[in-house]
This record gives sequence, C-alpha cells and structure tokens, in this order.
Amino acid sequence: MYLDNNATTMVAPEVLEAMLPFFKDSYGNPSSIHRFGGMVRRSVERAREQVADLLGVSAEEILFTSCGTESNNTALKGFFHKHRSNTKIYTSAVEHPAVRNTARYLKEQGATLHEVGVDKQGMISTQFWDQNFGSDTLVSLMWANNETGVIFPVEQIAQKVKSSGGVFHTDAVQAVGKVPLDLSDSAIDLLSLSGHKVHAPKGVGALFVRKGISIPPFLHGGHQEYGMRAGTENVPYIVALGKACELAKAHIEDENTRVRALRDRLESELLAKCKGAKLNGDKDSRLPNTTNISFEAIEGEAILLLLDEYGIAASSGSACTTGSLEPSHVMMAMGIPYTFAHSSTRFSISRYTTSEEVDTVIKVMPPIVEKLRSLSPFVE
Ligand SMILES: *Cc1c(COP(=O)(O)O)cnc(C)c1O
Repeated sequence: MYLDNNATTMVAPEVLEAMLPFFKDSYGNPSSIHRFGGMVRRSVERAREQVADLLGVSAEEILFTSCGTESNNTALKGFFHKHRSNTKIYTSAVEHPAVRNTARYLKEQGATLHEVGVDKQGMISTQFWDQNFGSDTLVSLMWANNETGVIFPVEQIAQKVKSSGGVFHTDAVQAVGKVPLDLSDSAIDLLSLSGHKVHAPKGVGALFVRKGISIPPFLHGGHQEYGMRAGTENVPYIVALGKACELAKAHIEDENTRVRALRDRLESELLAKCKGAKLNGDKDSRLPNTTNISFEAIEGEAILLLLDEYGIAASSGSACTTGSLEPSHVMMAMGIPYTFAHSSTRFSISRYTTSEEVDTVIKVMPPIVEKLRSLSPFVE
C-alpha cells in the first residue's frame, strides 16, 4: 500500500482517459493551421483554462513546463537574468532542492543569497519580512513543505514583500489539491506546480506568471507558450495536467475532511502506540495528507525496509541515496536532535488511501519500532 504521495502520486483513471486520444488520432501539432492542429490547440487551451481555474487566475498567465523543477528554475534564473549581479534572493532553509540548489547556483553567478531559517516546528517567521526590499529582490518560499507538510503563510509574506517593491515566487508543488489556492486577489507573482504530485504523470508542470511580471524566455526557439518556452507542446501531458487540476479542485473538500481525518487517526495512533514517537512539524499549519514522525534512537531506513516487507511504502528524511546517511536538511534546519532526526518517517496519503490501509499501518508499526529499539545501541 502506497503512503508516499508526497514523492509521487498514482495517475488518476480520469486523467489517463483524458490523455489517451492524444497518443492515437489526435496527434496534430497545435501550431498547425489545418484541422489536425486546431483540434489539438483547443485541447491545450482548455487545459490552460483548467489550471488557471484552479488558481483563480487567467489562462494567459499559465505557462506549461516539463516539471516542477523547470518551473522553479524558470522563475529564479529568469529573475536573475534581468537583474544580474544586483539580484538579491531570499529563500528558506527548508526549500526543495529545485529551489535551494538553483538559488545556490545563482549565488555562485553573483546573486546575493539569504537562506532564512525556521523554528523547531519548521515554521518561518513573518516578522523577518518587515523590511525594505527593492525591485531587484526575489523572495522564493515554498507554500507547503514536502517532508513535514508545514504550510508557510505565503500570502501574508507576499503582501509585505510586494508592498516594499520585491517580487514573490512560491513553490506550490505540495500545496496543489491539498490547500485552496486562490490567487485572484493575491500578492504572489510567480507560482510553480507539478503534475505528478497531483495525479497527473511525471514530466509536466506549470508556472503562473502574473500579468505585468516580465521574465525572459527560458527556452529560445519557436513562439510556443507566448514565446516564453519554445518547443512543441507535450500535448497529452498538458491535457493530463489540466484534467488533474480540475479534479484537484473538485476534491479539495474531501482532502480537508475525509483525508485529513484518516491522517489524524494514523498519526494519533502511531504517537500513542509507538515508543519514543514524536511528531515533526507545526501541528496546526500543515497539509491534511502528511504526517512526519520520529522514533527515538532508531534508523528511518530500517523502518522503511521492515515496512516494505508488509508492502507498505513510506519515506524517510535521510538523504540515504547519497550514501552519507545525513539527516535531511529540513530536520537539520528545524534543529531536531540527532537521535530523532535520523528516524524521521513520512507517511503521505491521498484520496485513494483507504481506512483499511491506515489500520494495517497502525497494526504493524508498534512491533517494528519495538524490534528496532531492542537492537539499538542508543536504548538502555
Ligand atoms: C516534487 C517537488 C518538486 C519537483 O517537482 P518535479 O516535477 O519532480 O520536478 C519541487 N518542489 C517540491 C516542494 C516538490 O515536492
């Protein structure tokens, strides 16, 4: 059973259905004058409206990209290309690598970079933003954190940044479909989203660019995407993203009631029944689908391997792929003590998660924790 939806999601059956015709008969190039092109072009524009509708913005403000990472790169590098060495970038210490490493690269290229810290709950200060930012300042803060689910008050911060002349970008990849996003009366200038975190396939994303905000083209070539992102459109995936955004809007209520209740039950049972369990992240300002729990003195990887024996997929915060077993930069930034940071385990559910699946996790986790504690050199 799949409880790793912040890593990627299943393609919704309705989404697959919507994209299939574009692999078969509807193969025209949207730029073509003939009917093969026209039909496909209308489908791309319909998808643009579906994405815009989810955000409460107009369709001309939506650019399709190849992923959330590309959207973030476009926003940050585009801003840098306009302001060059005058560029000041403010971001948080807990951003996804797609923002964090892009900002660090731009620092090497001459930008000034500030990575603003978070508190023990993973929350960013709102006071910090009471200062004068000029028009050469870009503030890029994630709407919701992929590891802890913590939601930043991005609108409140965007208002402050905007009022002093700065530009505000948000990586909203984890927020889409989980928190209502209404940008119709907002100070947010740029917003990134990704298809595969919201039940569309991997390899498609979008960037919202508010009217009046100009960033240079990211890919030069043809006139596609208003000349901002050249290259023949990935029509089936764009159609998929549109459909996924329409579904995300329709399911937002369910996500915040039924899905939230499932997550709450999973979380409270694990905290009550597993020894040394402690919640990571702000309990109130948080995504409805995510819980991140540390289990004192044991390794997150060991938990994942034992869970995998029951067919349960979750995620740990450690960057084990690098072979370093360092705790994640998010746990480090929150100042989570070593014996807890190493065992941080994320369960992220979706609208497809069932009550029975949650029951199974609640049943198998306490003995797994018990077993690993009995082997741990850190437990007396
Ligand atoms: C997954 C993710 C990304 C990257 O999106 P891709 O489409 O995989 O490139 C960016 N930001 C956050 C917060 C994410 O969770």
